[in-house]
Amino acid sequence: MNFDYDPENIFAKILNGDIPCEKVLESAHSLAFRDIRPQAPTHVLVIPKGPYMSADHFCQWASEAEIVDFMRTVGKICEAEGVEDGFRLIANARDHGVQEVPHFHVHILAGRPLGRMLD
Ligand code: IMP
Repeated sequence: MNFDYDPENIFAKILNGDIPCEKVLESAHSLAFRDIRPQAPTHVLVIPKGPYMSADHFCQWASEAEIVDFMRTVGKICEAEGVEDGFRLIANARDHGVQEVPHFHVHILAGRPLGRMLD
């Protein structure tokens, strides 16, 4: 891996217990918790425990075990939160993607009509 991961970012602090979170699910390689500023009735963030800044880094450098664990965690949360009416996964990256926290995360949004994004 060849990138500058900031170990002081807020999700790193959640992972090491310095900052509390409203945990939804924890697995061997992933953690899921509720967004502090929810944009929908369900707004859960899923993060890998490893030091990946964004989706491209995670997809390139995470192990298969980490990737499978991450995706299964997303699936379990979708099942537990009841997303039958629909949902959205979002992964913002860097400046143009307006990423606020530089630790890879996926937003799971559900529970209301979410509108169109890609017009
Ligand atoms: P981004 O723009 O995709 O990086 O979104 C970062 C998300 O993290 C935002 O939706 C924030 O509300 C959320 N967030 C920031 N700090 C915390 C926290 O301490 N706990 C939970 N969510 C947070």
